[in-house]
Amino acid sequence: MDKIKHLKCSKCGKTYGEEQMYHCPICGTKGTLEVVFDLTFAKKELTKEYLVSHQNPNIWRYFPLLPLKDIKEEIPIQIGHSPLYKASRLESLLNIDNIYIKDEGRNPTASLKDRASAIGVHKALELDKEIICAASTGNAASSLSGFAACMGLKNYIFVPHTIPEGKLAQLLVFGSQVILVDGDYDQAFDFCIEAVNHFGWYNRSCAINPYLVDGKKTVAFEIIEQLNFKVPDKVIMSVGDGCSISGAWKGFKEFYELGLIDQLPVMVSVQAEGSNPVNRAYRNKNREFDYITPKTIADSISVGIPRNGYKALNTLNESKGRAIDVSDDDILQAMTVLARHTGVFGEPAGVTCFAGLLKLVKEGAIRKDETVALIVSGSGLKDVKSATMAVSRPKKIKPELEGLISYLDEVKE
Ligand SMILES: *Cc1c(COP(=O)(O)O)cnc(C)c1O
Ligand SMILES: [Zn+2]
Repeated sequence: MDKIKHLKCSKCGKTYGEEQMYHCPICGTKGTLEVVFDLTFAKKELTKEYLVSHQNPNIWRYFPLLPLKDIKEEIPIQIGHSPLYKASRLESLLNIDNIYIKDEGRNPTASLKDRASAIGVHKALELDKEIICAASTGNAASSLSGFAACMGLKNYIFVPHTIPEGKLAQLLVFGSQVILVDGDYDQAFDFCIEAVNHFGWYNRSCAINPYLVDGKKTVAFEIIEQLNFKVPDKVIMSVGDGCSISGAWKGFKEFYELGLIDQLPVMVSVQAEGSNPVNRAYRNKNREFDYITPKTIADSISVGIPRNGYKALNTLNESKGRAIDVSDDDILQAMTVLARHTGVFGEPAGVTCFAGLLKLVKEGAIRKDETVALIVSGSGLKDVKSATMAVSRPKKIKPELEGLISYLDEVKE
């Protein structure tokens, strides 16, 4: 049984066998590879009947569509199966019939990246690699770090020195070797590749490792299952390198090819104004990405060169997608509006997608009867410093009732 047909370059379309470890040799690191599955096996195994009757609540239920040969020892922490909430108070606020929130902060290390790291760690074990590494703005790092700790793999993590404290704390507590790069994410990424070439470690960086996007696609499978095989009209996601949105799109397409759904969603890419290379290229119908020094509070999507830009562009082109830019102020405001109407607290990059929805609503670009799914990609507790910028700190008062009465009077809304 060979599930994988070939690896296909996302830039030039050439195909390769699995001996090609990372990217297309012709296009270089820009030519990230996509895993093309032979769906015959999945067609037999992953039927609607199977999915409905097997409730194993994690990503391994999709094994026929995961790029792993066999799993000797399954990672013993729960990955995926995050809740999908119907956000009724938001629906009233925005006058939209169906808004769903996929809360990816509920993954073991509190972001969507866990879906990818699960594949990365198992692939390293399959290939007998003892050392795994990654470059990351923070979440891919903390995720790999936790899973490597769980499976006893040594790991080196390249992060920009500006990484939020919560994410750094995760890395250090999990016991990773942290390479705190005096530079931004783009520099950390290139530096990590240089180190891989020198030391021969296994590279989990999502934007160079072909298999990881197939972990991220499970978020789409779950949305479909949780909506009882109905397809949202729009799926709104925060975009940095472009792995997450292209992962979700791949998931929807594979379920479509398996006949499990009969239509596909429109994919909406939301980026920060100060870090929007994918959206710029899509709007300008460019096939190249021009570098502008990224500047945004949303560190997880602060990216100068999108490392999976072609997959993201293909996603937007194929799904007739939308590209929305939002300001940092929009992001901070979105954080509180989302939290106060749903109880879901996302980090800046986690709620950037919601800032995009607010903008679409303002532009009148969403019909009332549409079904919208938002993927809140990371927990707000990862970056408390940014979160406190969205709110004002209460002043200190003495524990005396009189003081409380006058204080409550002061802050009365
Ligand atoms: C990584 C990340 C994203 C964006 O994913 P890309 O694959 O880089 O586009 C969005 N939100 C959070 C919280 C992330 O960690
Ligand atoms: Zn190529």
